[in-house]
Amino acid sequence: MDDFIETFKQANLKSINVSLDTLKKNKFNDITKRNSFEKVISNIDLLLKNNFHVKINSVLVRDVNDSEIIDFIEYTRNRNIHYRFIEFMPFGGNKWDWSKGYSHAEILSKIENIYGNKVLKLKDKKNDTSKNYKIEGFEGTFAIISSITNPFCDTCNRIRLTADGKIKNCLFSNNETDILSTYRMGEDITPLILNAIQNKKQKRGGMETFEDISNPDFNSKNRSMISIGG
Ligand code: SF4
Repeated sequence: MDDFIETFKQANLKSINVSLDTLKKNKFNDITKRNSFEKVISNIDLLLKNNFHVKINSVLVRDVNDSEIIDFIEYTRNRNIHYRFIEFMPFGGNKWDWSKGYSHAEILSKIENIYGNKVLKLKDKKNDTSKNYKIEGFEGTFAIISSITNPFCDTCNRIRLTADGKIKNCLFSNNETDILSTYRMGEDITPLILNAIQNKKQKRGGMETFEDISNPDFNSKNRSMISIGG
């Protein structure tokens, strides 16, 4: 990322998401299969120094990184970052099982046990996908994305374009709309985009209930998160 700071500025980028599931180097190497912990941390500081809005995404998995919740919060004490705790969601190949998940209520309770009434609820914007908070006196803020226990699909205005040119009208949608092929043929892609948006399901790509989302027939057909693009 350090190689591209000037390019980001020229492109007028304002906000950058960074995935960081742990603040411990050895665990980072185990999770990512990469030896880049120092580089990620120094790039976060570089982004802050260059006045980018930095959001850090951490998927919480029980017995993997839930013991670091307070470390993540402390990371916002002197850094103007927005830390987002994400409930563990089912995607292709991630062996999802909610017993490994950590819920919004559990995350908040762990934080409130330490910081008590210094935990301040921030006002969420109309189409926010997260519930936003901060600790009084800390520079940064934090949020919880509760797609499993408290989904926010009723206000969702998101669609995604994958790197291989497919529209996903929901993170959980098993159906994708190929717009790249049509675009390459020089044809109008507007009807495809409109159709994809109109077919967005009411909730979690059609997985309405907790039973639906726990059912491998529904939840195992999606791409892996890394190939969706986070
Ligand atoms: S509709 Fe899909 S993408 Fe939007 S919040 Fe719900 S699960 Fe996420």
